[in-house]
Amino acid sequence: ATPMSIMVGTGRGAREGVLVRNAEALQALDRVDTLVVDKTGTLTEGHPKLIAVEAANGWPENDVLCYAASVETHSQHPLAQAIVQGLKDRHGEPGVLTHFESQPGLGVSGSVEGHVVVVGNAECLKQAGADASPVEASATAHREAGAGVMFVAVDGRLAGLIAVADPLRADTRASLAALHADGLRIIMLTGDSDATAKAVAAQAGNIAEVHAGLKPQDKADIVKHLTAQGAHVAMTGDGVNDAPALAAASVGIAMGTGTDVAIESAGITLAHGSLEALVRARRLAHATMRNIR
Ligand code: ADP
Ligand code: MG
Repeated sequence: ATPMSIMVGTGRGAREGVLVRNAEALQALDRVDTLVVDKTGTLTEGHPKLIAVEAANGWPENDVLCYAASVETHSQHPLAQAIVQGLKDRHGEPGVLTHFESQPGLGVSGSVEGHVVVVGNAECLKQAGADASPVEASATAHREAGAGVMFVAVDGRLAGLIAVADPLRADTRASLAALHADGLRIIMLTGDSDATAKAVAAQAGNIAEVHAGLKPQDKADIVKHLTAQGAHVAMTGDGVNDAPALAAASVGIAMGTGTDVAIESAGITLAHGSLEALVRARRLAHATMRNIR
């Protein structure tokens, strides 16, 4: 009955929005005891919205947003889209960008009308030689509310910060509760800051561990480390950044709403991009493997 049961399982899965690459993927999902989830785009909707702009060192707030958006017009990152859209919503026009560089997992930089503009995380700001202390208290407050914070530097000096909110998907809390009840230890990984990550984890519930400030390769290393300790790991993710970690897991689970690179690296794809489908996928895996044994 072996191959037949699996085909039935995968056929039913497809109707429920669970796309299974092969029998091994379903078998691995049945055995999994640890679920590693990416924050952005998996727990959250993945479409951050600008919620605040704060200026420092005498810059007008509008200039801070305008400089940042001018550079971000050349970035594909969801955070870049939030900043560009934020400027549009405030009826601003981006300035002319003459040079652009992207540092994955850190931020972006460029020349805007004769000024060197950097937008990114704390590490990125530090590399630009700028001091974040004037906005540090405000950055902490935004992070503790679960918002993401990016710093803006102009000509090597802090110009302000931009805060974005990326709400939890509607089903996240319930799905994590169901997966936890199904015996999974849930671990969250993110490139975002520790304070934002912990606030989001608290809102989501049932997350045993949080690892923040990660580079794409760090995510894969954590999955490999857990596996070496004897864990059977399922990893979910949506971004190009998540592809190495998806490939390192016993079973990689891509969000169908994410990038093609993630989908190609995964054994299972959740068509509608929500963890609700993973709850169904686990049931399907248990039922199918029970039939075979
Ligand atoms: P995520 O965990 O959200 O997928 P990334 O690994 O892509 O994040 O990036 C980590 C951090 O680097 C982001 O939280 C942000 O602070 C900064 N960053 C990355 N890309 C950009 C960008 N295009 N503009 C500004 N900041 C960025
Ligand atoms: Mg991501």
